[in-house]
Amino acid sequence: MQGMDDQLNKKVRVRVAPSPTGYPHIGTIYQALFDYSFAKKNSGTFFVRIEDTDRARFVADAEEKIYSALDWFGLTEEESPRKGGPFGPYRQSERLDIYNKYAKELVKKGGAYYCFCTKERLAALHEKQQKEKKPTMYDKFCRNLPKEEVEEKLKKGDSFVIRLKIPENEDIVVRDEIRGEIHFDSNLIEDTILLKADGYPTYHLASSVVDDHLMETTHVVRGEEWLPSLPKHIIAYNYFGWKKPLFYHTPILRNPDKSKLSKRQGHTSVSWYMEEGFLPNAILNYLALMAWSHPQGKEIFSLEEFISLVDLKDLKPVAPIFDLEKLKWMNGEYIRMMNDKGLMIKLKEFYKNDPGVLKVLNSQESDKILGLAQSRLRTLKDFKDLVIPAEAELSAPEKEVANSLKEKLEKITEWNKDSILIVMREVLSEKKTKGSILYKVFTGREKGLPLPETLEIFGKEKAINILSK
Ligand code: GLU
Repeated sequence: MQGMDDQLNKKVRVRVAPSPTGYPHIGTIYQALFDYSFAKKNSGTFFVRIEDTDRARFVADAEEKIYSALDWFGLTEEESPRKGGPFGPYRQSERLDIYNKYAKELVKKGGAYYCFCTKERLAALHEKQQKEKKPTMYDKFCRNLPKEEVEEKLKKGDSFVIRLKIPENEDIVVRDEIRGEIHFDSNLIEDTILLKADGYPTYHLASSVVDDHLMETTHVVRGEEWLPSLPKHIIAYNYFGWKKPLFYHTPILRNPDKSKLSKRQGHTSVSWYMEEGFLPNAILNYLALMAWSHPQGKEIFSLEEFISLVDLKDLKPVAPIFDLEKLKWMNGEYIRMMNDKGLMIKLKEFYKNDPGVLKVLNSQESDKILGLAQSRLRTLKDFKDLVIPAEAELSAPEKEVANSLKEKLEKITEWNKDSILIVMREVLSEKKTKGSILYKVFTGREKGLPLPETLEIFGKEKAINILSK
């Protein structure tokens, strides 16, 4: 537990390290939530490092979108490429000389080596291994090249990569703070590439070791998919003789069918949640529950409450299913917790480009409509279907109902929900039909806001007008 005490004596520094390869992923927010909250709880620093070393997958405006996503959720960082800070640059493509220097230093220390194997040689090797049903791993061909030969090849300008020298025949023991000690057979770990032929580093060198060390990261919170790489990182830390941060590998988010949440399913992208009318706080609440439980078993709690309670040591190694239906339910609960003014602001913002809905929101009766709608919303997007009639052709019996309703509603002298309800009941019993038909004639849909209340709010003239169309 030596490591734990050392880290606790330092100022907490945690980071989220997204790769700008597309729209920000909900998984990035899941990481950022724990980082941000843990930093706040411990008066530490939450920073963003942009891991843009994979040039083939680089997307130009992805970095901007990462910031807008963090801002939307209120998980704003203290240091980053956009904000600067004492440990910059925070964009990895601007740190190439640093990685180069450390890769070469590791070679000097005997922890890494130059490898000159060609693509063709490696392809042939992997093919052979596959045929023999062996794991496809580098065969350490260059690991023991004589020093003179290495120098000669370098002088000639031969293309090279730098590989980590994994110790042989060792039981590598690593510690994940959520799962405890894990043993790895070093003979099953490849001599991983640290520096590629194009001079760009791999994740193993740049992020997990060099940057987290230089940026004084105290706690690394990252996805479980990195756990198998942890022994490589620990080996590199040991060669450098650097203190290690504490590692927490958060459980992977899974769909109800147990598959990994992937981009193909659509709802992995933060922009999807924005467009579907989710509230950022509801999403954060739900994400918190994916790796953590409230001490009193509460399902709904604010970010402030989470910050006051969170401790990385309480993270769980297995996540419950990421269930969109449950998240929608929770989002509805958050909508119901809002006051009228707050909900109005959210709706106006959400529908800022939709003149039809804006007209309803700016109408005289908007407060009353909102009052009726609030208990029926799961997302902000649901609002439109509740207040904007659908274009629908009425069938002959539906038209008959509409006409009869119109006639009777016109005769009402005391316009209120009770008198409207009486008329509706009369029409239904005369025509021997069900209530859903009333929704159809007023809204073009099968359901909606409660009709007597809504028509009372609209007033007689508007109600009759709808039926006259
Ligand atoms: N760039 C890595 C990723 O996007 C970061 C992992 C980490 O947090 O260390 O998966």
